[in-house]
Amino acid sequence: MPKIAIVTPVYNEEENIWEFHKRVTAAVAPLGFDYSIIFVDDGSRDGSHRILAELAEEDGHVEAYFLSRNYGHQLALTCGLDKADADAVITMDGDLQHPPELLPEMLRLWQNGAEIVKTRRLATENVGFMKRATSKAYYKLINLLSDVEITPGGSDFRLMDRKAVEAFGLYRERARFIRGLVNTLGFNCATLDFVAPARFAGSSKFSLHKMLHFALDGITAFSNLPLRWAFYCGLVMSFVSFCLLGHIFYVKYIIDDAVPGWPTLAACVLFLGGLQLLGIGILGEYIGRIFQEVKHRPLYLIARHVKREEK
Ligand code: UDP
Ligand code: MG
Repeated sequence: MPKIAIVTPVYNEEENIWEFHKRVTAAVAPLGFDYSIIFVDDGSRDGSHRILAELAEEDGHVEAYFLSRNYGHQLALTCGLDKADADAVITMDGDLQHPPELLPEMLRLWQNGAEIVKTRRLATENVGFMKRATSKAYYKLINLLSDVEITPGGSDFRLMDRKAVEAFGLYRERARFIRGLVNTLGFNCATLDFVAPARFAGSSKFSLHKMLHFALDGITAFSNLPLRWAFYCGLVMSFVSFCLLGHIFYVKYIIDDAVPGWPTLAACVLFLGGLQLLGIGILGEYIGRIFQEVKHRPLYLIARHVKREEK
């Protein structure tokens, strides 16, 4: 019997865990697979820890890993993918925005030969205009910048065959944008569309800061274009200032009409200064990431693991 695992990162989701467990179990238990649900607690500070430990003691299908602190959604997912030893691994959020009712269809596509089943969020119910607009603009930008195609509405709700999970396990970078990485793997892919319902309970665990960081990780992980743009901007600006210098000489020595033109000059200096800072900022983003990666620190630390002893 093929083994399947469902990997779910959890960060302060105490109101969602029971319902999530109930609906996932209802969706996969009748299918006759040997299934397990692997929760990765990402350093929750509410009652999630207690509930997960309880659930793992109660239901032999459930296993819980507790990370030593909050590492972020992408690393929590990575931990789950590292630990799952099933023939197919499905990653999904714990807030029921990834409908468990889609699981049978995903598994059917897998059994029909798909090695990666991606999902595409067509829309999200009850989501603010701002989040929708920024998300759309972001996908436009990242696709413009990078060579890897990153589907708008792509989410981390996907199924991966053992082969794909193992291939993915070879990628050990810290700043990771999993949906982009998975698109570079290749394999035989299928896509499922879905409409994400609103969260079952609670509010989003992605602060603006986390979101921004994630967005930058996505761009810097897949593109060196910003660096190149800084270079081109510098080139163009040097050319313009060179022309300006010619003009100044012309005005002063040829037509001897040196109007006190310092505002223009000051503006130019400021503009150039700003541009340089921008370039340095972009460099800094990349160098900071290089620094992070060369340290080769562990991606996450596990503080506790709970799984019921099989009698
Ligand atoms: N999550 C996590 N660590 C974090 C933030 C979020 O493990 O630092 C989990 C969260 O519990 C949920 C999933 O990642 O299961 C997606 O987060 P959320 O629903 O808050 O994101 P959104 O749907 O708002 O983008
Ligand atoms: Mg959510």
